Amino acid sequence: MTTVFADRSTREWQALDAAHHIHPFSDMGSLNKAGSRVITKAQGVYLWDSDGNKIIDGMAGLWCVNIGYGRKDLAEVAYKQMLELPYYNTFFKTTHPPVIELSKLLAEVAPAGFEHFFYCNSGSEGNDTTLRVVHQYWASLGKPGKKHVISRKNAYHGSTIAGASLGGMGYMHEQMPSPVPNIEHIDQPYWFADGGALTPAEFGLQCARQLEAKILELGADNVAAFIGEPFQGAGGVIFPPESYWPEIQRICRQYDILLCADEVIGGFGRTGEWFAHQHFGFEPDTMTLAKGLTSGYVPMGAVAIHKRIAEPIIAAGDFNHGLTYSGHPVAAAVAVANIKALRDEGIVDRVKNETGPYFQKSLREALSGNAIVGEVAGHGLVAGMQLTEDRASRKRFANGGDVGLLCRDFCFKNNLIMRATGDRMLLSPPLVISKSEIDELVEKAAHCLALTARELGRA
Ligand SMILES: *Cc1c(COP(=O)(O)O)cnc(C)c1O
Repeated sequence: MTTVFADRSTREWQALDAAHHIHPFSDMGSLNKAGSRVITKAQGVYLWDSDGNKIIDGMAGLWCVNIGYGRKDLAEVAYKQMLELPYYNTFFKTTHPPVIELSKLLAEVAPAGFEHFFYCNSGSEGNDTTLRVVHQYWASLGKPGKKHVISRKNAYHGSTIAGASLGGMGYMHEQMPSPVPNIEHIDQPYWFADGGALTPAEFGLQCARQLEAKILELGADNVAAFIGEPFQGAGGVIFPPESYWPEIQRICRQYDILLCADEVIGGFGRTGEWFAHQHFGFEPDTMTLAKGLTSGYVPMGAVAIHKRIAEPIIAAGDFNHGLTYSGHPVAAAVAVANIKALRDEGIVDRVKNETGPYFQKSLREALSGNAIVGEVAGHGLVAGMQLTEDRASRKRFANGGDVGLLCRDFCFKNNLIMRATGDRMLLSPPLVISKSEIDELVEKAAHCLALTARELGRA
């Protein structure tokens, strides 16, 4: 197969990239000196770089390529849709078949009650939209005073101004002199770091009750919503104790606060359920969707709105929000093909019943003897490994971020993509990964963590 762009040498690509391209979340000075890695093709769970290295992608791109790389059927659907109707808008009393079929299909795979969907291009825009939906809902009920939104420290909700304001990443807030107002952050349910002598169950309840305290402080009549990732993704694959979400839900219902689940990573099978909130056993009012919605083949985001929220909004008249590409026909067509494949090929079921449990068990067994791995958190095909100086006392490294980067350097050298977030190493492979590919992934991850331990004199 000929490539879309003519071949250049790695050096040439790196030089052009350094000359003209500013990367997200990067220190461009040092990156331009070192040179970026150039990824040229992909198939299944593997990537190839411009030097010909074959790399196993333990992160499904950026948590999004749920269906794996190289699906011809998705490419063909995009091609056909581009020829038939590459673009038309959904403003001005207009619609088109792809967005209609996608909405129907989403209503089938989403839990009961989620029958209405608003489209955008990314998870960040999805959370911007969620804010708009929340405010419109309370306005439609004649309660515009409910305007505060409560989120959590170390949450990730995207990088638009609203997404980053909702998120709890201090380093992002620092570079943002004009955040969206009326957003408050409570602590994250990160037992390994903050649980002290409490059991995980006790700690989960204590964290959830911070929400209640914050609502009482602000006054329930002033609080619109709580937003959270069912498990924190970019924050380090932090799985809350089981006691956490049921208590959050109780509090939201008691004080009449909307419960917004950011399912951008958790959605479309990551935990083995279609949506991660189903794994944790709670029922949100809205779901932010992106990433796995199209498996990253083309950009798309959406907000799923429970009918109890959608109906008053629909009855209230104009909703003054929309994007040129809301419900983009090519993205919608690809999303339909992607979701049908995830469902009809049994990919999500296999994560739940077979590959997910196998991955979790293999990973835990492979790391049980590593002195610097204090915890393996996760379910289905997502895991966070806590680096620790002392397992018994859950003591974290003083320079945890450096240890994470040390480990990531070993991963680079071993053709493994495993992400480092501070002192946690993260895995979230494509959902189509086979058992033998899981063996390879786990073996490489364990090897790189063993090399890290040895480098630190701990093995
Ligand atoms: C990635 C992510 C987002 C942002 O999505 P973009 O498509 O990058 O804008 C929002 N929320 C969560 C939980 C995410 O992981």
